[in-house]
Formats: sequence, structure tokens, C-alpha cells
Amino acid sequence: MAKTGQRITLSFDNGPHPDVTPGVLDTLERHAIKTTFFVVGNKLAAGRAASERAQAEGHWIGNHTWSHSIPFRDRGDAEFVHAEIDRTQAELGGLAHPDKFYRPYGGAGRIDGALNATAVRRLIDGKFTCVLWNSVPGDFSDHDGWVETALRQIDTIEWPLVVLHDIHAAAMRHLDRFLGILEDRGSVFEQTFPASCVAIDHGRRTEILDSGVVAN
Ligand SMILES: [Zn+2]
Repeated sequence: MAKTGQRITLSFDNGPHPDVTPGVLDTLERHAIKTTFFVVGNKLAAGRAASERAQAEGHWIGNHTWSHSIPFRDRGDAEFVHAEIDRTQAELGGLAHPDKFYRPYGGAGRIDGALNATAVRRLIDGKFTCVLWNSVPGDFSDHDGWVETALRQIDTIEWPLVVLHDIHAAAMRHLDRFLGILEDRGSVFEQTFPASCVAIDHGRRTEILDSGVVAN
């Protein structure tokens, strides 16, 4: 059940969205919570101003593939893998956090096979930090029910790293309520990531990667 003092890390994936991301930033600012935005490279052309604002307000910006289209388990050639990783990192430029956070696209929240050997090699060579997740409450498909799902998930995880999406206004209108409930519970918002969700740390393999859950 709800634990006072439970650490919680929030992340927002699949943006930036020129209309939705600013509202999310307003809400986070009101609650004085810092998070990470894992952005899709091909959305930066339309949403760059929102990512710049996020960075200016103390949020971290990570790389969440260029196209967000095919998990590496389904397409593993070097040309595709390198484009998904490196093209976005180049497009981010100075927006990218210096630790080079990369979150793979797993498809429907799946971690298994989100990386492959080619991607692992590239992330290690490029000294990336590969950030996974352990809570996907499904705000993208359940715009009104995700808060209750998230609270149930959070109760079962020692240090949740929650994936939300700053692309659906209908879902994000519940963000303020969600944060208020967590504050009332005495949650402690962290910007850093639980070690159990870090597969590669500044280019070094971790035991999470070696456990084989993410790469096939
Ligand atoms: Zn995603």
C-alpha cells in the first residue's frame, strides 16, 4: 500500500508535442517536480521550443529513437539501428543531457528485445546511458483510467520509474490530480533513475543488461 517516503521517478515519452508538452510543463512547475523527457527525433522539428523550455526549467532530455516505429527485435540491421540512435542524438544537440540518456522503443511497453546486439554495441561505444522503465500505466490508450492503474502499479514497485506520454491532452489533464495524490501520500520525487532500470551506464554494461531481459 501507499508508503510515505517512497521514491518515484517520472518520465514523459514520445513528444515533444507543441500543444501538449507546454501544459505538462506548467503542471510539473506547479508541483516543483523535475523529470526526464525522452523525445522522438522526428518530432523535434515541430516541438523543439517545448523541449527547449523543458531543459530551461531543469528537466532532462533523453533520446527515444528517431522514428519510434520498429523495435530492434524486429529490425536489427546496423543502418537502421544507428539511424535510430545517432540521428536523434545529433538533432538534439545541446538539448541532450550530457549523460546521453537513451530509451529504446519496445512496442506496447515491452522491454524484451527492445535492444539487440548491434544497438548494445552502439550504445556502449557512444557512452550512452540506457534507461528502461518499470511502470507503464497505459495513459496512451486509457486516457481517463491511467491514474488508478499507475497508483496500483506504484504500490507493487520499490522505486517506480513511470512512463507517461506528453502527447495526449485528454490523458494529461489528469496529471495534476495524479501528482496531488502522490504528494498526499508523502511520495518523494526523484529525477535520477533506479539502478534496476539502467541497462548501460555511461557506456558500461550493467547487471540489468547482462540479465538478458532487454537484448536478444
Ligand atoms: Zn515510446
